[in-house]
Amino acid sequence: MTKLDYNSFNLVEGIKEVNMAFAHDTELALSAAAALVNTEQSDGDQLADVPALDRFVAHWGWTGSRRGDNSELDGVRALRPRLRGLWHMDEDGVVAAVNAMLRETRALPQLVAHDEWSYHLHATPPDAPLADRMLVEAAMAVVDVVRSGELDRLRVCGAPGCDDVVVDLSKNHSRRYCSTSCSNRVNMAAFRARSAGA
Ligand SMILES: [Zn+2]
Ligand SMILES: [Zn+2]
Repeated sequence: MTKLDYNSFNLVEGIKEVNMAFAHDTELALSAAAALVNTEQSDGDQLADVPALDRFVAHWGWTGSRRGDNSELDGVRALRPRLRGLWHMDEDGVVAAVNAMLRETRALPQLVAHDEWSYHLHATPPDAPLADRMLVEAAMAVVDVVRSGELDRLRVCGAPGCDDVVVDLSKNHSRRYCSTSCSNRVNMAAFRARSAGA
């Protein structure tokens, strides 16, 4: 067994850091896009009104200008089926969809630092409509996913009856469920099936 000295231990720690699935802003953008898609639930819309959108925007740290009216809300809600599609397409389909999103919003990538955030990519000006900024941020993140050959990290929750989308950011591609409540439900059903068969 190799004895690790302090320096090689640091090297191993460093590699672990590098080994995260994507850049931090990409991971945040993917998670926000999935959360946006998942606000559309069969038993109720979690973006039902402008205050709900305000909470979503605050939770995910969106900056930039807001209209705060129903047309802005409608624009954001209309993104959801479009973004959900990215979780269901093959690679060529995703590429065509993402390229269209970037073209129609005239995305122009720029490195920016603002508020507490260090340099990251924006591809829309801060006064662009909120829905455009959300769409472009999601599209830019998916560009990273495709370039990395990691499209299989975008998957649908494996729990029966749940069609929430999942971004698997785990090191070993192991995430299958949208939430602990879904994974608990599946584990409990498996446990009951085992107990019944015993
Ligand atoms: Zn930013
Ligand atoms: Zn689920």
